[in-house]
Amino acid sequence: MQTTFQQLFDTYNWDEVQNRIYRSTAADVERALAKRKRNIDDFATLISPAAAPYLEQMAQMSHALTKKRFGKTIQMYAPMYLSNECNNICTYCGFSLDNKIPRKTLNPVEIEQEITVIKKEGFDHILLVTGEANHTVNMHYFIKSIQQIKAHFSNISIEVQPLSEEEYNQLHDAGVYSVLVYQETYHRDVYKAYHPKGKKSNFDFRLNTPDRIGKAGIHKMGLGVLLGLEDWRTDSFFNALHIDYLQRTYWQSKYSVSFPRLRPAEGIIEPNFIMEDRDLLQLICAYRIWNEDLEISLSTRENETFRDNVIPLGVTTMSAGSKTNPGGYSTEPESLEQFEVSDERPAVEIAKIISERGYEPVWKDWDRAYCGVTI
Ligand code: SF4
Repeated sequence: MQTTFQQLFDTYNWDEVQNRIYRSTAADVERALAKRKRNIDDFATLISPAAAPYLEQMAQMSHALTKKRFGKTIQMYAPMYLSNECNNICTYCGFSLDNKIPRKTLNPVEIEQEITVIKKEGFDHILLVTGEANHTVNMHYFIKSIQQIKAHFSNISIEVQPLSEEEYNQLHDAGVYSVLVYQETYHRDVYKAYHPKGKKSNFDFRLNTPDRIGKAGIHKMGLGVLLGLEDWRTDSFFNALHIDYLQRTYWQSKYSVSFPRLRPAEGIIEPNFIMEDRDLLQLICAYRIWNEDLEISLSTRENETFRDNVIPLGVTTMSAGSKTNPGGYSTEPESLEQFEVSDERPAVEIAKIISERGYEPVWKDWDRAYCGVTI
């Protein structure tokens, strides 16, 4: 048995995986769809071009499996950007060190202003986001901010730089429910090209981060790849392989997957690989048919029509009314966004659309009292 995902990952070859996916046949797809339980090889088949003609059938299965496991509910959350300071160069991100934009880290007064607006919109689940700037946005800052924020929100998720196991322990004790960390791409050489400078350029340290999160006993982990950097099918296979390994190793934790497609932002590159809406729907359905327990999250990066249509087809979590710059909810935007939001509708409108489709928008399904952490 492997003790880190890297040990398993190193037994795979990118080109062989890619060939395997693209060689799948209609007979392979039909075999995978007919199974009661599907494995990671079936997932590879379901994301293949050969599965594209089966999208209608996959969507129906995804709908039925999601309804059985999660009911007709959509969990609502809002991201709160605490800082856009970053010491890394990531060639696809508006916060990249080489972008000459105004930098800002929220102070407690500014955090309070953001809390007031986000709470007014009805949110009880919050995702805290920062860049990687260890001199200002560090563990001390995280813990102080979480102490302030947790008095107002039942469920806190965090998406920050990869940390040590001990630091994840501290976040857990501080009341963090979920940690999100995306590998961006599982192609080592391509990863290096997109991350030329800063701590994030260490592929292996990032790859082993979910292991450290799991060892720290965090309740939920969120994984994903940035769609547009490399071939989405091969990258998604490795992301699913990662989730599969984690679920077997840290079985006490829950897991979610997100599908960020590269969006326009200040000074960033164009996607190298285009993913059409139909491809993204196939990917969502494939994840659900492969893994009935996985939470599937869709952000405001996606456009209104796609988000509305995909509500009954496998998604369990949606953000709404998102601002991707620090202070974006309460003050005039002084600093540029991490990326341009596509669906700009307010949370109340998204909740109405969810209800009109026969689903319940869920603002709260967790209380910190469940795990004995007091506020
Ligand atoms: S993706 Fe993250 S680490 Fe990279 S520049 Fe943007 S905020 Fe910084």
